[in-house]
Amino acid sequence: MKRGKVVKSTGLWYNVEAEDGKIFKCRIKGKFKLNGLRVTNPVAVGDDVDFYIENELEDSGMIKKILPRTNYIVRESPRRAHHLHLIASNVDQALLFSTIREPNLKQGFIDRFLLMTEPFDLPAIIIFNKSDLYQEGDMNVFEYLKELYEDIGYTVVLTSAVNGEGLEELKTLLKDKITLVGGHSGVGKSTVINSLQPQLDIYTQEISNFSGKGQHTTTFAEMHPLTFGGYIIDTPGIKMLSFINMEPANVSHYFREIFQHSSGCKYSNCIHVNEPNCAVKEAVEAGKISELRYINYTSILQDIKEQNHWERNMEL
Ligand code: GDP
Ligand code: ZN
Repeated sequence: MKRGKVVKSTGLWYNVEAEDGKIFKCRIKGKFKLNGLRVTNPVAVGDDVDFYIENELEDSGMIKKILPRTNYIVRESPRRAHHLHLIASNVDQALLFSTIREPNLKQGFIDRFLLMTEPFDLPAIIIFNKSDLYQEGDMNVFEYLKELYEDIGYTVVLTSAVNGEGLEELKTLLKDKITLVGGHSGVGKSTVINSLQPQLDIYTQEISNFSGKGQHTTTFAEMHPLTFGGYIIDTPGIKMLSFINMEPANVSHYFREIFQHSSGCKYSNCIHVNEPNCAVKEAVEAGKISELRYINYTSILQDIKEQNHWERNMEL
């Protein structure tokens, strides 16, 4: 029996990296559940597994055991109703790429992404890339957002693949960690990751496979080793992310500063929209909670309402 880490999944086969770095193509048998729910894929990238070799010549094997996970990222399966899809396991942190220029900032995406990482208690790093393109006004926006997100407890880094700004800092943050990477295409994910390790150009190729036209979007994440230690996991199809399992109360829980103020609300089930004596709304008015975050919060609640409504109608 050998021990290894799943670094790639195709749905049928799993590439397992053994402790000596050698890759084995492995299968797994049986039906698997996660907390009693059906999963479309029993094993995800990041999983540590025990396997045995079936065919020495082909380096193929069979996974016998999945070791206990420190965490796992799941979402509703995009293909099968009421099934969960495992995105990745044993993740240390999340890295969200954004930029203020080319393309213009979609600030709402930051809060939506964080809503995905918060339930898993993942520390999140927010990258503002392409700093070489920022004019004075853009820098003001950056400074504003940096303060906003750092106050809540996130790490914010300004980077540029063109002049190298922030890249050493980013490298230090990624070293020896398993990092889940997200962000819209075109913000510079592959350029930045590759410039951290110029000798290997592994990331661009993989990334362009799915960011190219979009039709062949794979739903399987892949882990890429970093030459200086650690792995990054890109998250295909992150835009299909849905909040189907999320209730309004969960959302208010995962906006950290909203949750902190909610103990002062009159009603314990307050969702901070129309209720009287709401400490969260008071904090927004007093400038203690950012209005921007609050607007995004209410817009996400609205999406969930529509989604749940749509779901319910579909079931009838
Ligand atoms: P991805 O889709 O997020 O992986 O984005 P890419 O890495 O493919 O980058 C999209 C475009 O932005 C490419 O033309 C890059 O050359 C460019 N780009 C990436 N990083 C920077 C940067 O820091 N500054 C500037 N000016 N352009 C960048
Ligand atoms: Zn309230």
